[in-house]
Amino acid sequence: MNQDQDQDQDQDQGQDKKVPLIELFGPTIQGEGELAGQVSYFIRTGGCDYRCFWCDSMFAVDQDEVHRNAEWLTPNEILQKFRDHTKTAPIHGWVTISGGNPAIWNLTDLVGGLRIDDLKVAVETQGSIAAGWLDLVNLITCSPKGPSSGMVDKLDLNVLYEYYGRWRRKLIFKIVIFTKKDLNFAESLHAKFPDIPLYLSAGTPLPASGRETKEEAQQKVLLSYRYLATEFLKRPRLHDARVLPQLHVLLWGHAKGV
Ligand code: SF4
Repeated sequence: MNQDQDQDQDQDQGQDKKVPLIELFGPTIQGEGELAGQVSYFIRTGGCDYRCFWCDSMFAVDQDEVHRNAEWLTPNEILQKFRDHTKTAPIHGWVTISGGNPAIWNLTDLVGGLRIDDLKVAVETQGSIAAGWLDLVNLITCSPKGPSSGMVDKLDLNVLYEYYGRWRRKLIFKIVIFTKKDLNFAESLHAKFPDIPLYLSAGTPLPASGRETKEEAQQKVLLSYRYLATEFLKRPRLHDARVLPQLHVLLWGHAKGV
């Protein structure tokens, strides 16, 4: 069975199906998209149906790394772990479920429990799967991948139209920009969904050697942001979008769990 079949099957499984939990942390500052600058907790699941060239979360994508790093828990067990993590202090802000692509899993019980706890739940996904439990979340950050990712051929507009039809009142698009072709992609998507808020996020190149100081990462964030801002300003059709650097990298480099 290949990974896609495996993931399709996972979607169909009941809530006792275990999910690879990669990390659970917070409070921290959300670094991208509509909640940038706001307090959020993070729950990161493993596994993804994409393999973007510049993915900065391969520890949550690569199958070997997922199997090495993950704690396999049911959605209810993840909920309990979150409650344990936050039991000493009242929670303010959001809970963001990220990945990988969390939409490959059935997280109904996790999200339902967080909502019962009166928490606001955001999810980050590239928009390849219209998982039913997205009905329950407060905000969907959908991040279709442009040409620089190497995954643009996997884009299924029918799924994005389904997102639009079902969830447009709580849907935003966030597109990571490395190149002018990515900006062309963003323009084209924005023309198809003009009423969906669009956030452009300056992509930060990963270090070729795998090692980098925080200061080097911060310098790259600023250079990438300057490049994006300069190119963005030449494109009036995008001027109702918001343009942001990856604030979390600016703050902490590529460190995990912050
Ligand atoms: S969709 Fe996101 S998590 Fe998956 S490979 Fe691409 S950047 Fe990484």
